[in-house]
Amino acid sequence: DVHDLQRLTARISTGRASPRDLAAVSRTLALLPSIKAQMRDRESAMLRDLEARLEVCAELREALESALVDDPPLSPREGGLIRRGCDKELDELRDISTQGKDWIAQFQAEAVRRTGINSLKVGFNQVFGYYIEITHANAGRVPTDYKRVSTLKNAERYTTPELKEWEEKVLSAQDKIHEREYDLFLQLRECAAAQTNRLMQTAEVLAALDVLASLAELAAERNYTRPVLADEPMLAIVDGRHPVLDQTLPPGTFVPNGVTMGPDEGFFLLVTGPNMGGKSVYLRQTALLALMAQMGSFVPAGCAKIGLVDRIFTRVGASDELSRAQSTFMVEMTEAANILNNATPRSLVILDEIGRGTSTYDGVSLAWGITEYLHDHIGCRTLFATHYHELAQLAERLPGLRNANVLVHETEEGIVFLHKIAPGSADKSYGIHVAQRAGVPAEVLARAREVLAELEAHHVNTPERPGRIRRPRIAQRSLFANMEDPVLQALREFDVGRATPEEVMATVRRWKRDLPS
Ligand code: ADP
Repeated sequence: DVHDLQRLTARISTGRASPRDLAAVSRTLALLPSIKAQMRDRESAMLRDLEARLEVCAELREALESALVDDPPLSPREGGLIRRGCDKELDELRDISTQGKDWIAQFQAEAVRRTGINSLKVGFNQVFGYYIEITHANAGRVPTDYKRVSTLKNAERYTTPELKEWEEKVLSAQDKIHEREYDLFLQLRECAAAQTNRLMQTAEVLAALDVLASLAELAAERNYTRPVLADEPMLAIVDGRHPVLDQTLPPGTFVPNGVTMGPDEGFFLLVTGPNMGGKSVYLRQTALLALMAQMGSFVPAGCAKIGLVDRIFTRVGASDELSRAQSTFMVEMTEAANILNNATPRSLVILDEIGRGTSTYDGVSLAWGITEYLHDHIGCRTLFATHYHELAQLAERLPGLRNANVLVHETEEGIVFLHKIAPGSADKSYGIHVAQRAGVPAEVLARAREVLAELEAHHVNTPERPGRIRRPRIAQRSLFANMEDPVLQALREFDVGRATPEEVMATVRRWKRDLPS
């Protein structure tokens, strides 16, 4: 029942509020004492502070309630908005107007009696004011003191000096009533405008209460849990749920998933697995839970401890911004650049696929570089969903990186998505299975299987001297299997002339670390 007090106050203070707006303020103010009473003596410091700041504006409420009728008209100039008993002058004018109308009614009765014309009527219009209407059939009985003012098809209209006199009284009283009501309305609006600061403060309190009440209701209805906020950059969510999917999927079908990040658990989670497996949901749910916890909400999880984040960066979805002349890939890279340039060790980053919009080699190389940069230089908590299974082997080199994958169950009929996140990396994309489910024609699927088999056979590459490579960087079946060792490649590209001695030292140290021993 509370109206938008902020908007109403803005209209009042800029002189745009209508009588209905003032009535809405009045109704809202009427609710404040009971709201304030419910907030009294609460344990929560925040509620106590809100209670102290909630101004009930009793004088304004009193002024509005005693002046405005219950359901005033929209326009302040048409009258009918001020209560009787509020203003003596207005009441007198109203009496004159009513008396005048009564007199006119009596005048009609008297004229009928005097002339014997039963169909005689007194009417009113804007042009002639009050008039006596007599049909042509009765023209012979019109008294001589009646003065004709207009002729219609069936009747003539007349007036008398007495009728004119009363007409003036009624009309001028009505004009004065409208003027007086308008003046009183303006006074009332100014009186409300003088309370702008208190009204705005109250509006803020009501908004804060509204948010708190909504969050509390959600928490109670949906079985949310109270998160613990920590200073250190960690995440420990057990049985987290996506706040929206958890509601929209049939009850009991959403599969909860947890996430653990911290000094000993790693801070970079690389999530592989088939399309439709649930990677995007998992990433978004983690970011949403962090956001909800930090805005003061309970969260949909069994339990959750969340290290404060300074920002949440996301690279999700692939939206073209063709109107801004940006291709999908350009948008993707712009978003990636923003993250790489602005994320801090306290940030939370979610990357839902990187490098998909370009050739496979390009894409995987960028994804690789971005992963190393986030891990080595920024060290922020990151969840990265990718189809580049090649990246999974980075876990051997990057101490903060952990692999996770979404589980699927392979059956005779096809695959079943379990939507469960488990440690370790996936080795298959199941893209053709998903295409089949989507209804891609069997012929296309068969051909795709052939091509896949060929490609895989072509790229399988046993290292020439397997004994020397203890930690193969690239798993079998990888498109990268026949690439040069990244250290050699980096050495070739390293510009000694431009590097500072410190950079040279640091780079050589990193190469040594990365070299297969
Ligand atoms: P991916 O990113 O791996 O392609 P999505 O995250 O988009 O997959 O999930 C695909 C669909 O699977 C979702 O629209 C949802 O219907 C379902 N799904 C995802 N995660 C879960 C889950 N945890 N429990 C139940 N259903 C899920």
